[in-house]
Amino acid sequence: MIKSLAVLGSTGSIGVQALEVARLHNLKIEALTAGSRVDIIENQIREFSPAVAALADEKAAADLKIRVADTSTKILSGAEGVKECASCGAESVLNSIVGIAGLAPTVAAIEAGSDIALANKETLVAGGKFVMGLAKEKGVNIYPVDSEHSAIFQSLQGCASKKQIKRLILTASGGPFFGKTKKDLEGVTLEQALNHPNWSMGAKITIDSATMMNKGLELIEAAWLFDMEAKDIDIVVHRQSVVHSLVEYVDNSVIAQLGVPDMRIPIQYALTYPDRFESPVRQLDLTEFATLTFEKPDYETFACINLCRRAIEKGGVYPAAVNAANEKANELFRQGKIRFLDIADAVANALEKAPHNDDYSLADVFETDRLIRTQTERLFI
Ligand code: NDP
Ligand code: MG
Repeated sequence: MIKSLAVLGSTGSIGVQALEVARLHNLKIEALTAGSRVDIIENQIREFSPAVAALADEKAAADLKIRVADTSTKILSGAEGVKECASCGAESVLNSIVGIAGLAPTVAAIEAGSDIALANKETLVAGGKFVMGLAKEKGVNIYPVDSEHSAIFQSLQGCASKKQIKRLILTASGGPFFGKTKKDLEGVTLEQALNHPNWSMGAKITIDSATMMNKGLELIEAAWLFDMEAKDIDIVVHRQSVVHSLVEYVDNSVIAQLGVPDMRIPIQYALTYPDRFESPVRQLDLTEFATLTFEKPDYETFACINLCRRAIEKGGVYPAAVNAANEKANELFRQGKIRFLDIADAVANALEKAPHNDDYSLADVFETDRLIRTQTERLFI
């Protein structure tokens, strides 16, 4: 098992659970980063004594520096400070920053030769070509934290050759609006959209689950992580969130990973692979679930799924574009500035407007992100 770890996004839903796993296994925390929540990171610094920590928000970082002046932790600030923490050289860097802000730190951590435990799916959606290419070049492993991708990774153990894989099957809970029509979703409130049936997560991904954009992002994430074509990745709605995803092999044998919905299992596996250890997660009692159900997604009501599928099929900067539109629209919805169904419209608009560019650079990804965010804002405001 690894001995040293950096946690980027340590104050969030995944970050806090990652530190719980680290505490259990006595991992040395080399670096911590967050956006602006000073109280939480101060407590984490006092408990884990990292060599370095950073807040992306400059003012919050200045405040933190004063608060922890009695400790030996060096405090950095801004996006550069977060990147410097990512480059700390820990054996593993767990990235649970939300959104595209995680991309540059992932690249920095790979450059520094650390293995990556990746929760920040937007990183792979927007910059998959560069993240996977650089990881290969540097001999760095990328271990999925996202529960579906961890399930696929676990179901692939023992697979002798990629040729033996026929398709990947991602399961989706369906979110709070499963079974609703587009008409039903016209007047949806933020409170209703934040009410996820099975998982407790950060606000952005909870809204992504309600629109099912999350499953579209995960489709693109899976394509990059497992080097699969989108046509060989299917999605089924599985309301109970017990079967976390499946791999179908050429002989039509299907292998799945099951467990109660608790992110501490995939987080721990990403840090202890290939070993397994006891975890605080409760046992799965299959008899608690009289029935496990599997259904086709409603692609009409949840248009974001196929918009993402088209984006990865088109290639180039299209995945970065749909991600940027969604991030902006998701934020505007949470601020009460647009309606729930506007999010999918923004994503569709980005797919139309993004520049076609097969021979793109990482700079093009960041430029597309900036451009599409501005365009998305202009659509509504
Ligand atoms: P949260 O919103 O709970 O946490 C996000 C973290 O990122 C916080 O530590 C936040 O700091 C930090 N952050 C926000 N903005 C910036 C920025 N500009 N620069 C640096 N750090 C920043 O999100 P989650 O933990 O729910 O999700 C994190 C990632 O993991 C997402 O990509 C999500 O899709 C993915 N994921 C999450 C799952 C879950 O169960 N929650 C499951 C699977 C994937 P602060 O608190 O100070 O704002
Ligand atoms: Mg997931």
